[in-house]
Amino acid sequence: MENSNLKKLIIVGGGSAGWMTAVYLNRVLNHSKKNFDITVIESPDIGVIGVGESTVHSVRHFFAGMGLDEFELVRETNASFKLGIMFDNWRKPENGKMHRYFHPFEQMQLGVEQDLATQWNLQKSSDGKRYDEWVSASQALLEKGHGPKNDQSHQYQGAVPYGYHIDAVLLGRYLRRKGVEAGITYVEATVSDVNVVDGNIESVETNEERYSADFFIDCTGFRGVLIGALKKDNWVSFKDALPCDRAVAMQSPLEPDEIPVPFTTATAMDHGWAWKIDLNNRRGFGYVYDSAYLSQEEAEQALRAHVGPDRNFTKCVHMRFRTGCREETWVGNCIATGLAGGFIEPLESTGLHLINLAAGLMGTHLLSLDRPDAARRSFNRLMSAFYQDLKQFIVLHYCLTDRDDTPFWQNAPATVDHCEWLKDQLEVWKHKTCEFYDLAGSSSSIFSDENYRYVLYGMQHYPDLDLNLDTEDLSVFETAQKIRATALARTEPMEDYLRSLAI
Ligand SMILES: Cc1cc2nc3c(=O)[nH]c(=O)nc-3n(C[C@H](O)[C@H](O)[C@H](O)COP(=O)(O)OP(=O)(O)OC[C@H]3O[C@@H](n4cnc5c(N)ncnc54)[C@H](O)[C@@H]3O)c2cc1C
Repeated sequence: MENSNLKKLIIVGGGSAGWMTAVYLNRVLNHSKKNFDITVIESPDIGVIGVGESTVHSVRHFFAGMGLDEFELVRETNASFKLGIMFDNWRKPENGKMHRYFHPFEQMQLGVEQDLATQWNLQKSSDGKRYDEWVSASQALLEKGHGPKNDQSHQYQGAVPYGYHIDAVLLGRYLRRKGVEAGITYVEATVSDVNVVDGNIESVETNEERYSADFFIDCTGFRGVLIGALKKDNWVSFKDALPCDRAVAMQSPLEPDEIPVPFTTATAMDHGWAWKIDLNNRRGFGYVYDSAYLSQEEAEQALRAHVGPDRNFTKCVHMRFRTGCREETWVGNCIATGLAGGFIEPLESTGLHLINLAAGLMGTHLLSLDRPDAARRSFNRLMSAFYQDLKQFIVLHYCLTDRDDTPFWQNAPATVDHCEWLKDQLEVWKHKTCEFYDLAGSSSSIFSDENYRYVLYGMQHYPDLDLNLDTEDLSVFETAQKIRATALARTEPMEDYLRSLAI
């Protein structure tokens, strides 16, 4: 017998956004009883963006929530593990040495009275080590080439929080297979028209046929085919704060003697920054830049020079993008997510994270479709706040630079003028340690006070503490060193772990 309450949900787009959202919602909304009939429509003619290969750590909880087997996921997507991001060259060199700091995912919990960061700020001149070299267990692991796990580790668990370096195209294919196995309908067709009645989408036209639904999710990437048909002038630009608007990406196989590195590298270049991301089988490079200063050809040339002459590339793609987000990601009976919803430049790998956030909120908000207006307003408020918060965190990386070698870097400090909260906080953090409560009123979806500290102190924005505290007490650092040593003992070289997974 047909279930008359069954709601029909159509997702248009089969990139990471489409399939992550589809598989997650199918798991959450149809887990005990089929409430939604879910269809994914994907164009066979329009490709996926094919980047988005470095993730934050929380995405593994999302994958777990989707019911995915981590070993299978890693094997099928040629994934490797990520402990954080190494930032190179974001300030001027000092004494002929390139500036460098590491931003891991973890927050070390010591349970001591005086916080570790304040202690470190009082001690820092004594040995010249960076903040992350003192307090991060992940940093201890990467020094030895260890990943976050050993062959006894449970799925999605490690000695420290971790993300992935993952093949974006294979992830889409893998999720499509899992989705179809779980009962999601898959249609290969291109949406050519969107039929809107009274501010809601009634149906979409494709080259095959017309598809109607109660609710639509727009995952058509930068095109925003559905959301664009519902509302014009629905874009909040972040261009003033985040001026980069182009990227060139290249891929190269790992040589037999190359071992995947367990972190992303983000190297500041003349007019932007370059990523290096190691999967289990290949190395990806990209240059994110501001087209006001650099042509496509110059960017490709600069990236090739940065990588060095010895690598062979199998793929080179140029991309344009705009940073910002929809003023309303939910309009009428449609939510836009992934690149259709907005884009923060990829410096902290937040693309898949935003898809994860939106899917999580859909899982809760779509249950209240009977009161759509309140649910819609709530969803839009939250998503907008997440985008604004992430924008400020990315600006933090740029605005503290002392580089002045190109107009791009000369303009970087002024980007903070477009982030009111951050500008104020940076003044406060000149005189005190960054602490939990500083972010308590914000809409931080993932980056906590500890993440801010790694970037602040990595970029040498230290507080001018002049308290007469007992700076001889090193016990807090001894505890930190023990935690680092324990993490090292609980993990193994990433090469060994990845090899054990392949069996
Ligand atoms: C330079 C760059 C680097 C990035 N790096 C990272 C990173 O390191 N980490 C991270 O998390 N994120 C990153 N991102 C973001 C990440 O790539 C995206 O968030 C993610 O891939 C999701 O893309 P998507 O599915 O929204 O869009 P796409 O991959 O573009 O997919 C769009 C889908 O819509 C379909 N489609 C389009 N039009 C139609 C139509 N008319 N009818 C039917 N189907 C249609 C297409 O066929 C395709 O399947 C990066 C983005 C860029 C631009």
